[in-house]
Amino acid sequence: MIDLRSDTLTKPTAGMRKAMAEAEVGDDVFGEDPTVLELQARTAELLGHQAGLFTITGSLSNLLGIWSLVAPGQEVICDVRAHIARAELGAHAALHGVSLRTWESADGLGSVAQIANIITPDAGPYLVSTAAVELENTHNFGGGTIYPLADIKAIRELCSGVGVKMHLDGARLWNAHVATGTPLCEYGQYFDTVNVCFSKGLGAPAGSMLVSDADTIARARVQRKRLGAGWRQAGVLAAAALYALDHHVDRMAEDHAAALAFALAVAEHAPDAIDPTSVATNIVLLDSGDLDASQVIAQAQTNQVRLSAVGAKAVRAVTHYDVTHAECVKAGHIVGGLLKGHR
Ligand SMILES: *Cc1c(COP(=O)(O)O)cnc(C)c1O
Repeated sequence: MIDLRSDTLTKPTAGMRKAMAEAEVGDDVFGEDPTVLELQARTAELLGHQAGLFTITGSLSNLLGIWSLVAPGQEVICDVRAHIARAELGAHAALHGVSLRTWESADGLGSVAQIANIITPDAGPYLVSTAAVELENTHNFGGGTIYPLADIKAIRELCSGVGVKMHLDGARLWNAHVATGTPLCEYGQYFDTVNVCFSKGLGAPAGSMLVSDADTIARARVQRKRLGAGWRQAGVLAAAALYALDHHVDRMAEDHAAALAFALAVAEHAPDAIDPTSVATNIVLLDSGDLDASQVIAQAQTNQVRLSAVGAKAVRAVTHYDVTHAECVKAGHIVGGLLKGHR
């Protein structure tokens, strides 16, 4: 089986397991786990922020970041395909009274004009006030797309001018960094809070990080405990993340090359399903044409390829270090064959 459902499927390597087994640990609720402290300091520095808070999931990291910027009854605005809007089970509203409103784009990358069109800071007694803008980079359901730095800068200028904060869901910011060569801190500087995940292409078994200023992180730490997500010898997981930072960042370029090779193989048979020039990182979105995405997924599975759906007609393939380049090419030919003639 060639499993391209997600880059979360990666299993810890032997080297990573060794680093986990040998990790120095302490009680992180007391702030005494040296490996967690090291990971928090290192990640914050990479992103150009003062402090970090290690969390079990990216959803929790996003939840705490947005909680720190948006009061109950205020809104965060984001893309219609944003992970915070679609894949976090309404947590921002259910737990923190945060309202969400979305702009519509094809690739998850809303322009400054689109955002200016819906932003309503200090809206008064009738409309919901916008407290934060949330961007996602790379954009998962947008197809692994990369936010151009110039757009981020223009959006930051818009937000700063009207007192609106910014949160980055950088679950796959590593992929954007590797694909463009842009330093992580160059992305990080435009945001008040940033989430990054170690459990996607970096290959750690679990763990994400919220970074921000020291004050915000101190507040987020209290809220994390309030949500029941304080943890003890989390250094075992922090060690996996540190190992991933040392060994698994640069190799993501191989995942990007494999995604392109997969897309080119699909396009050989079904050119209407994918424009390979649109592949930016490790995620490929295929148009299922007159088939439903669920039909394509079922047929692919019978042919030993696993894919996922991100829309009724949108099939997603994600490359990662547990699949080889050759397997991705093979999968592309299989899936291309299934999509052939279905426009
Ligand atoms: C995976 C992911 C997250 C976090 O997911 P968890 O499963 O909660 O760790 C957040 N944002 C995006 C865009 C993601 O792809």
